[in-house]
Amino acid sequence: MSQTPSPDRPTTRRHSWAEPYKIKMVEPLQVTSRAERESALAGAGWNTFLLRSRDVYIDLLTDSGTNAMSQEQWAALMLGDEAYAGSESFYRLERTIQEVYGYPFVVPTHQGRGAEHIISQVLISPGDVVPGNMYFTTTRLHQELAGAAFVDVIVDEAHDPASEHPFKGDVDLDKLQRVIDEHGAERIPYVSIAVTVNMAGGQPMSLANIVAVRELCDRNGVPLYCDITRIAENAWFIREREPGCAQLSVAEIVRRICDLTDGAWMSAKKDALVNIGGFLAVRDEGVFDEARNLCVVYEGLHTYGGLAGRDMEAIAQGIRESIAQAHLDARIGQVHYLGQQLVREGVPVVRPLGGHAVFLDAAGILAHLPQDQFPAQRLAGELYLEAGVRTMERGIVSAGRDPRTGEHRRPRLELVRITIPRRVYTQAHMDVTADAVLAVWDRRASVGGLDMTFEPKYLRFFQARFAPR
Ligand SMILES: *Cc1c(COP(=O)(O)O)cnc(C)c1O
Repeated sequence: MSQTPSPDRPTTRRHSWAEPYKIKMVEPLQVTSRAERESALAGAGWNTFLLRSRDVYIDLLTDSGTNAMSQEQWAALMLGDEAYAGSESFYRLERTIQEVYGYPFVVPTHQGRGAEHIISQVLISPGDVVPGNMYFTTTRLHQELAGAAFVDVIVDEAHDPASEHPFKGDVDLDKLQRVIDEHGAERIPYVSIAVTVNMAGGQPMSLANIVAVRELCDRNGVPLYCDITRIAENAWFIREREPGCAQLSVAEIVRRICDLTDGAWMSAKKDALVNIGGFLAVRDEGVFDEARNLCVVYEGLHTYGGLAGRDMEAIAQGIRESIAQAHLDARIGQVHYLGQQLVREGVPVVRPLGGHAVFLDAAGILAHLPQDQFPAQRLAGELYLEAGVRTMERGIVSAGRDPRTGEHRRPRLELVRITIPRRVYTQAHMDVTADAVLAVWDRRASVGGLDMTFEPKYLRFFQARFAPR
């Protein structure tokens, strides 16, 4: 059996994750000077989301929509049926989703949050409570805008960056049952799980836990919906780590997860290897009818949902490529290659290493800064200054304010996410990135905090501005 790399069982056999592709087209990169980067970062208010990409050397802000498409996907673009209604490309996408994930009813959306918006509006009534395994920014916001309160029911280990728990995305079943008992099943429109859990560090759920959540939902008469944005990576971890799952294929595990849920939404910009797109997929025909009616209001007709026909072709092809073992070995192998370099040097990172990113523990690295001085935001800025590497904050800024009290939410995790786009960068780029982190790590004692000088109302991490104290 082929040996796949994992943080706990690193492989020395280089070919175990060598890229299963070669490069046919290249996009030039520009290296900037330190002075140019200082001026760019000041102009961006120390928010990496506000930098222009031309000022960035290695862009590890996100793996969302930044993937390299395959020759098959580029070829599929030419097959796009741009009919306003009844596009053949929609039916190809629908058939792919039915075959790979098993949901009968599909609503295409312009990206993941379009699907989150629709499903939240369909299922949630004001005053409802939605339990989930740690929040995701856009998921929770749409649940709150629909009138629900989100309650985190993830296992405690997820909030501890040093815990080596192999499935830190798991739901704590006692916490979930307590939420249902406290509010009553009639106030819980659905349980909202995500595979993998981005904000916990790209941590997977185990199949056994999803089975147990399903049983708990059935006992209480509550539906179960899943954010399958990173399901292929989660399935790879299950195959790697969960007892009894090594002989299953990633495709089989993906299907088992979906079979346990009533519906799902996906941002196709991540695992599905495209630059734009998403969908909602459900089993209940009544939910589907309402969802595709709202699709017409917010996204576009229900056979394109804000996408071009060619986009739907690329997604359909990308979904099939996303569950290939060799692709996932290389993708996650590259993330772990970067992470291992930092672990070896003693830099605090979230353990075990996740699927799409290495998460720096900014609270550990800049331990002299209080959370109010935005240590992760500052650290992301320093990495940019050091080498032109763009990363993002995942801490107190991303967590936003509690809508009831207006106070900062204070997550225990104060992280910088170094996110690796799929099939885009090389091993040498990972080495440059590791060097940049190590350089900042060496001079960490002299790094100060930030003040927030502008704060937008929604999803503030995208547009807030900061200045060094
Ligand atoms: C990116 C993401 C979303 C939102 O999708 P968009 O395509 O960015 O709108 C939702 N859930 C998870 C887990 C994500 O990573």
